[in-house]
Amino acid sequence: MRAPVKLYLASSNPGKLAEFRDLAGAAVPIELELMPGFESLPQFEENAPTFAENAAGKALHYSRLREGLIFADDSGLVVPALGGAPGVRSARYAGPEATNSQRIEKLLGEMRGKAGSERAAHFVCVIALAKRGRAIAVVTDGVEGEILNAPSGSGGFGYDPIFYFPVLKKTFAEISTEGKNQFSHRGKAFRRLLATLSSML
Ligand code: IMP
Repeated sequence: MRAPVKLYLASSNPGKLAEFRDLAGAAVPIELELMPGFESLPQFEENAPTFAENAAGKALHYSRLREGLIFADDSGLVVPALGGAPGVRSARYAGPEATNSQRIEKLLGEMRGKAGSERAAHFVCVIALAKRGRAIAVVTDGVEGEILNAPSGSGGFGYDPIFYFPVLKKTFAEISTEGKNQFSHRGKAFRRLLATLSSML
């Protein structure tokens, strides 16, 4: 049996690592770890206008600083009726120190008066894999939904309580982690990455 492929996540966030480990399951023999010493490395400034530039830029940057296969992601919520906002600024939409509920409140404020197709939204996730400053793969996926008028549900994180997913007739905060992983932008993008890796092994 071949040794598992080791991928290092360009992050210091154990929650993010746990989520990706959950997504990886046992389908492909891979091991996921946080990049050792991530916090002491020169940081990559995530201020590009697209998710792809941020994810690829991050993976390339950190892969120049450490050996091995480095992966990075960028994700967010896109509302076409708001010109794509919050988009790449999803995490900082209501300021750098704001809470999830403050971001939700701001978005609901911006959505006031919008109805029907104007409430359409999608989550996007881009994941990039790099080694020694060279890109190996950049994958992306998304999930379509609608912005509710008020939050509903207590699961998930971020904008999940206002993201209504018509396929399950629930918000992302009302479905199980397994359910979300099956349909989410991150779940689907990560499975694309695994498929790309499998085809390379
Ligand atoms: P980053 O990818 O860590 O830079 O942050 C993306 C931001 O987008 C998060 O802080 C959330 O606000 C939002 N976001 C991304 N994915 C999700 C999701 O699955 N549910 C809810 N919010 C999300």
